Parts: sequence; C-alpha cells; structure tokens
Amino acid sequence: TYVVTDACIRCKYMDCVEVCPVDCFYEGENMLVINPSECIDCGVCEPECPAEAIMPDTESGIEQWMELNAKFSAEW
Ligand code: SF4
Repeated sequence: TYVVTDACIRCKYMDCVEVCPVDCFYEGENMLVINPSECIDCGVCEPECPAEAIMPDTESGIEQWMELNAKFSAEW
C-alpha cells in the first residue's frame, strides 16, 4: 500500500485523489490519507503529488504515518 506522509499537511493539492482508480483517499485532520485496505498498490498517485508526500510502505521510518493513514481512513 501507499502512504501519505507529513509533506501533505495543509497542502491538499488533491491531484492524487483525481488519479486514484479505486478512490481510496480520505480527508484526515489536516492532510489526506490513503486507506491501506483499499489501496491496490498501483503507484499512480506517487508522481502526481506536488509535495512528494506519497510513499510506498516499504519506505523506512514512516511507521507513524502508516498508523495515521489507517486511523483517519477508518473513520469514514
Ligand atoms: Fe490509489 Fe494507486 Fe495511490 Fe493506492 S497507489 S492510493 S490505489 S492511486
């Protein structure tokens, strides 16, 4: 799954939302998040993010963002 990280905070360009084939982006408190159980790992959103906030979950050091994406997307 892909994960939205801190560069997204208060950004909301929304380019990623438009390209996602499964609409798995949701609004968190002050950033967007990806629902990890809906993301099909296509990678289309990653280059679309102007803030480079989207990363694959294989990236190291983003555990707290993985938790946050899961938490905020589960509230919908
Ligand atoms: Fe959507 Fe694909 Fe990005 Fe997952 S990797 S959030 S399915 S565009």
